[in-house]
Amino acid sequence: MPILRRISDHTGPPPAVPVDDARRDRRRALLDALAVGLVVSIAVGAAVSGLWHSATTTVRENYREYLVQLATAAAVQVDPVAHAAIRRPEQDNSPEYRAAVEPLRRMRAAIPKIRYLYTLVRDGASVRFVLDSADPGDRDGDGVEDHSAVGELSVSPQTAKLEALGWNGQPGRPTATHRPYTDAWGTFMTGYAPILDAQGRQEGVVGVDLDASGYVARLEAARRNLLVGLMPAALMIVLLTVTVYRLRHKGFADAREIAGAALHAQLAARRDRLTGLANRTLFMEQLNAAIARTRAGAQERFGVLFLDFDHFKLINDTLGHDAGDELLQQIAVRLRGALRVTDASGEDASGNVVARFGGDEFAVLINDLRTDADSERVAARLLQALEPVYALGGGDVHSSASIGIVVGHDDRDNAEAVIRNADVAMYEAKRSGRACHVVFDEAMHKRLTRRMGIERGLRNAIGKREISLAYQPIVAVETGRMVSAEVLLRWEHPEFGDIPPAEFIPIAEESGLIVQIGEWALLGACTQLAEWRREWPEEAPVTISINVSRAELALGGRLLSRINTVLRRTGLPGRCLQLEVTERDVMRDPSACYALMQQLRAMGVRLTMDDFGTGTSSLACLREYPFDSVKIDRSIVRGLTRNTDVMALIHATLTLVENLGMASAAEGVEDAAQLAVLQSLGCRYAQGYYFSRPVPADQLIRASRPLHAVDGDQSAIISAA
Ligand code: C2E
Ligand code: CA
Ligand code: CA
Repeated sequence: MPILRRISDHTGPPPAVPVDDARRDRRRALLDALAVGLVVSIAVGAAVSGLWHSATTTVRENYREYLVQLATAAAVQVDPVAHAAIRRPEQDNSPEYRAAVEPLRRMRAAIPKIRYLYTLVRDGASVRFVLDSADPGDRDGDGVEDHSAVGELSVSPQTAKLEALGWNGQPGRPTATHRPYTDAWGTFMTGYAPILDAQGRQEGVVGVDLDASGYVARLEAARRNLLVGLMPAALMIVLLTVTVYRLRHKGFADAREIAGAALHAQLAARRDRLTGLANRTLFMEQLNAAIARTRAGAQERFGVLFLDFDHFKLINDTLGHDAGDELLQQIAVRLRGALRVTDASGEDASGNVVARFGGDEFAVLINDLRTDADSERVAARLLQALEPVYALGGGDVHSSASIGIVVGHDDRDNAEAVIRNADVAMYEAKRSGRACHVVFDEAMHKRLTRRMGIERGLRNAIGKREISLAYQPIVAVETGRMVSAEVLLRWEHPEFGDIPPAEFIPIAEESGLIVQIGEWALLGACTQLAEWRREWPEEAPVTISINVSRAELALGGRLLSRINTVLRRTGLPGRCLQLEVTERDVMRDPSACYALMQQLRAMGVRLTMDDFGTGTSSLACLREYPFDSVKIDRSIVRGLTRNTDVMALIHATLTLVENLGMASAAEGVEDAAQLAVLQSLGCRYAQGYYFSRPVPADQLIRASRPLHAVDGDQSAIISAA
């Protein structure tokens, strides 16, 4: 059943995170993780470059110191005087030249790492080679003479060179270049040291080009080691980044889930779990909004329809709660369909709302209602939609609704009052036959207030002596003699005045108060009869007729023992008691009633079927149940003299009743003509205003004493009127 599944979706788990949100979560988590990774990388990078710097500096400074030591050692081997004597290129390789360069050439041969050893002097603005440790010729085969000897230095002056030669008025000092220099001879660095004469004056400078490949290798190794050392750090950073990513991603997802769950819970709190419709809370919010809109002039009127399903409890009781639930779901689908509501929470685009208030109560809010009558049109449409049978658990079930309508266009409306009034109208719809709609009016409200006042007042009415008993004679048609008196309740309400029993007895029945009132009436009536029998042995009625309500019949054995007690206390025999029950009430619980009636008969109590002609008036009931007499209802008697059909009906009934061995009685006899007809048809007993109205106990004997048969002395008949 796809429709039901759709409804139940709304009570299920929160919906899954949309793809877009998931992608956004991932991107945000990744950015955060990368930012953390970057910051840590920078920190680690700074530390590493510091390490790198200090490591290379140490290696370089050690190497430079070594170069300076070599240059210093070489400088002391040069004879400054011999050196000063060599200045011209043609001296190259001359005996004095060779003598001067010899120590340097020896030193180069002894230390294989030395690539080149030479001396330099300042010559005005430029610098000149003087001695050269290389042997003449092109040993390395690059087409360039290895031996440069006395000549002008072609390369641009290096800082280290100038530092050693003396610079800007500073004396020369031992120093070394800072980084390796690569050419056809290889890679080398140079150490310089001044050549000083005996007086300590600078004669020139010695340069030692030392193979720097070892140094470069050491630097490389240091870099490699550092990089290898960096690997764990890099790994840590990657791990950290990944961890941060996962934590952040989970955090975002969790946060979204919590927010989603909160939203879901908030929606669920305003939605009916069973049907998925709006619940009372949401409906009241929308109703308040509708009232506000009306007040602000944004709409002219709105309508509220309050629905209650007829005999829903019966479905729950007979088919079970699951079937009841399913019926409610099917009802929700129909209501939604009839109002063209597509939204799951029972709201449509124009702001109409369908809600379940709980139990079998539903409410509908119609906004922008054009006319008052439109609300009834909507109600009629709903009733029509609800009319077809429902398929429930294999069987067909019929369930009609009663609808109360309130149209709001008043700025004094408030939501609670609107709902209360719609409820009142719904109640009225139930009273007027169910499966219909009723528009609320103020009179209804008054009726309801009165009803509630009656119910409240009933609780103390006996104690306050507001309720009393009246007695109406029942006479034998043939003789005109009173044979019984019907006991009728009278209530003088301090606020409402006389309240007829037809009004307060149904209320007493619904609230269960009738049991207490009935007991009081039974004792009062029996006590009264006992008193009459003592004081007026001749005139007193033979029996007292007491109406027994449905709720009293339902007491069963307790009713029996109560009657027994009263009879014992008053000393009356059972045959003095005549109980009036209606066919309708007997048929509420036929078998229990049958047993009860048999027991009452065994006690001698007589039984009258009351109100005959108003219900189904079945022959079966008359035949099977132990009634002594049948009382034809006043509504039938009223038509007696005007309608021949009614006369025929009564004739048939009376014949039937006599044939079944029961006595017949008629109530509501108001005039002599009615009595005459009844007498001609063979009716045995009669009761009505024609003889006497119901009167207080102390007037009964007097009211009934002069009663005579119709064909007797007319003037002797007393009517209480
Ligand atoms: P009911 O049992 O049908 O009682 C007869 C009603 O007909 C009484 O109305 C009575 O006053 C009225 N009546 C009698 N003669 C005439 C007549 O000539 N013309 C007209 N128009 N009416 C006549 P009442 O007293 O208003 O009682 C109404 C109903 O309240 C009774 O109908 C009975 O069902 C119920 N009732 C009254 N007293 C009691 C009681 O003590 N216990 C129970 N359970 N029900 C009671
Ligand atoms: Ca009666
Ligand atoms: Ca009656």
